[in-house]
Amino acid sequence: MLQSTDNPIGTDIMKPHKKGNIFIISAASGTGKTTLVSRLLKNNADLRVSVSHTTRQPREGEQHGVHYHFVPKEEFESLIKQKAFLEHANVFGNYYGTSIAGVNSLSEEGYDVILEIDVQGAQVRKSLPEASSIFILPPSFEVLAERLIGRGTDSEEVIQTRLSKARHEIEQSVLFDYIVVNDDLDRAEADLLHIIKAGRLKKSSQQGFISNLLENS
Ligand code: 5GP
Repeated sequence: MLQSTDNPIGTDIMKPHKKGNIFIISAASGTGKTTLVSRLLKNNADLRVSVSHTTRQPREGEQHGVHYHFVPKEEFESLIKQKAFLEHANVFGNYYGTSIAGVNSLSEEGYDVILEIDVQGAQVRKSLPEASSIFILPPSFEVLAERLIGRGTDSEEVIQTRLSKARHEIEQSVLFDYIVVNDDLDRAEADLLHIIKAGRLKKSSQQGFISNLLENS
């Protein structure tokens, strides 16, 4: 693996040499979280997203192992029994869960790992005290409603359910470390990247670099 002792925050052309940080990203649905995470992944080679398991049906264009691990309910319930998940939740009638093995292996490889999960799943903060949590807010409820309708993927009934849950979800934002308002995709992406880069600058993330510096003094 490449060592980047002369550059402790890593760059897009080098894999970081240390264990990666974990970022929990949540939002009310329709806030643009998935779009923002896709942009971050495209533009930052040191970043990976944990691919969740779900029992919901794939939407058009979604691939198994890329967007989700799509599994039958029986398999998901068996994984719960095996304690394979860091957290799992029932969202709109389907199971979703974050695999412990998946997150650990990415972080051990030195990638910063994003857990893109719903507000219930963000309870995972208790089991991952070292992770940073970020909540993405819509600029207004009107914009949130327009985005959900414009997506065209969900039925009217699902949209109404999502909207009525949104207020309660947004109230939970006070429990997160960082708040990013998605009124402009470029700006919100830049804000997220600042948070991720600041994580790389934490002293806890730089112990390897400090030891190396002192050893070679
Ligand atoms: P969708 O079905 O639209 O892809 O996702 C529905 C909700 O489930 C979103 O808020 C999404 O972030 C959330 N979700 C995706 N993966 C996980 C997971 O592993 N755990 C939890 N708790 N929620 C998840």
